[in-house]
Amino acid sequence: MIELRNVSKMYPNGTKGLDQINLSFAKGEFVAIVGLSGAGKSTLLRSINRLHDISEGDILIGGSSITQAKGKQLRMIRRNIGMIFQSFNLVKRTSVLRNVLAGRVGYHSTLRTILGRFPEKDMNLAFGALDRVNIIEKAYSRADELSGGQQQRVAIARVLAQEAKIILADEPVASLDPLTTKQVMDDLKKINQELGITTIINLHYVDLARQYATRIVGLRAGRVVFDGPVSEATDEV
Ligand code: ADP
Ligand code: ADP
Repeated sequence: MIELRNVSKMYPNGTKGLDQINLSFAKGEFVAIVGLSGAGKSTLLRSINRLHDISEGDILIGGSSITQAKGKQLRMIRRNIGMIFQSFNLVKRTSVLRNVLAGRVGYHSTLRTILGRFPEKDMNLAFGALDRVNIIEKAYSRADELSGGQQQRVAIARVLAQEAKIILADEPVASLDPLTTKQVMDDLKKINQELGITTIINLHYVDLARQYATRIVGLRAGRVVFDGPVSEATDEV
């Protein structure tokens, strides 16, 4: 479903974010990317969603190269990819419901988005998503009135409303306490199992990766230093 062929990413200042990466991810996999700060985890996820261009190599999603894609073609590919960030990236002063409906924006014309009216199908998807992450009673609360864990569940609901086939989560629990971390990771795992959404998640700690992932990819200085089942991953990954 996702294939990276010999991918390198050099930043304008000369830093190598990724160095000749070859990886493929199958549909429905739950993969943890682990590595120290600066290993290239974020660069990897940003490359897959083409939040930046890579310097070398090719990335295929569902068989289509995204490396040269532009305009409508790029939007169609991105529609299938939901991003989750450490900092939640919600519109703070806006309701939870509107934040979740933002996942539907890519499906409509700009005009409709500006007017802010969403068809019933979108409303159903949004409420269904909020229900799945057990936060439906917060639909009309302002996003910034929620706790960190709740805000991350809103971000997950937004990806669900988007009907994404792939979730890229960049250290989604790095700013959460242990209990909230468990709730958010449980939600991500549940969604992966029930909906078959391919999930790639950057994690700082191998322990957490072991508990939730089926496969671990270890990065160091932009290179893959481990790729295998959780059972074979050591603390050195
Ligand atoms: P991680 O997510 O594992 O912490 P990153 O992908 O953020 O690692 O960073 C990989 C390398 O690329 C690091 O050396 C980092 O300093 C560098 N880097 C990341 N973003 C930029 C940027 N915008 N400009 C220059 N260097 C960057
Ligand atoms: P957690 O311990 O999971 O971070 P909090 O103690 O932050 O949870 O939040 C507990 C409850 O208080 C939640 O229902 C949340 O919506 C509410 N809450 C948190 N912060 C605020 C706030 N700034 N204004 C209003 N309600 C808040």
